[in-house]
Amino acid sequence: MTLTEMRELLAKRDIRLTRSLGQNFLHDGNQLRRIVDAAEIQPTDKILEIGPGLGPLTELLLAKAGEVLAIEMDARLVDFLCERFGTEERNAELLTGALESETAKPDESATFHLLHDDALAFLKREPRDWRDWKLVANLPYSVASPILVELAAGVRAPKLLVATLQLEVAQRLMAQADDDDYGILTLLVQLDFAPREWFKIPAACFFPSPDVDSACVILERRATPLLPENLRASFVKIVKRAFSQRRKMMLKLLKADWPKEKLDAAFAELNISPMERAEKLSLEQFVALTGKLFNHE
Ligand code: SAM
Repeated sequence: MTLTEMRELLAKRDIRLTRSLGQNFLHDGNQLRRIVDAAEIQPTDKILEIGPGLGPLTELLLAKAGEVLAIEMDARLVDFLCERFGTEERNAELLTGALESETAKPDESATFHLLHDDALAFLKREPRDWRDWKLVANLPYSVASPILVELAAGVRAPKLLVATLQLEVAQRLMAQADDDDYGILTLLVQLDFAPREWFKIPAACFFPSPDVDSACVILERRATPLLPENLRASFVKIVKRAFSQRRKMMLKLLKADWPKEKLDAAFAELNISPMERAEKLSLEQFVALTGKLFNHE
């Protein structure tokens, strides 16, 4: 869909875009193909797309995948997508049956499910097994981080995340210790996902052009979890507390939740300086610290 076609279509249907829903549509064919190529889609793949909008990415996904589930919040766009792809919208209950009964076959055209819902609410409300799925989405800016945190956490996360979002959020997702962008979001997602690569998408590739550039990030689910499931909540608690005041020594901050003696012992055993700030500690060090503090609990 070219920019001209997109403008005409929106005008014809009298659709005024809603800023709060992050409705910046990607019209650059090269960038769309690059996103799809990054997902290395096989004919049996199941793809979750959040925020299909007018469907430029959906069209490419349907051409390659075995099954696509798209979740769109805006009823006007759901109506348009139903017409465009000759489908009916589903509600969450009908969807459950459909997802369970269908297995993608490589020689058939893709099965398309279109759900009219708030994707973040849906993910929270209905925890599902996404292990066989890949997320490929140009995410709405306002909820991109919570959606990724929600999807990435836990043993039932998708195997691959290919997400387009604000450049600044992308940099946080791909950061390493001591980078300016390294922080809570980095650690919560990288606990389960290894960053693979990312590329920038200029603001001019979207209609309307947002104020900032975007980037597509590709993250792969770790084959072996770095922490057992029962330590996940402690990891999250440590990371959030440690970064609650970025410039402060993390040992001091952690005293709000753990006794000093336990912290001193854990820091000494792991050879972490008591003066260290959270931004200097690697993911592996946070994981090790979680193990030590949990054993001391
Ligand atoms: N995929 C399209 C594209 O690349 O042109 C549209 C992407 S646009 C950045 C984000 C889309 O997400 C919009 O269609 C918007 O209506 C939808 N959206 C916003 N918030 C949503 C939510 N919470 N759940 C599902 N869709 C949402």
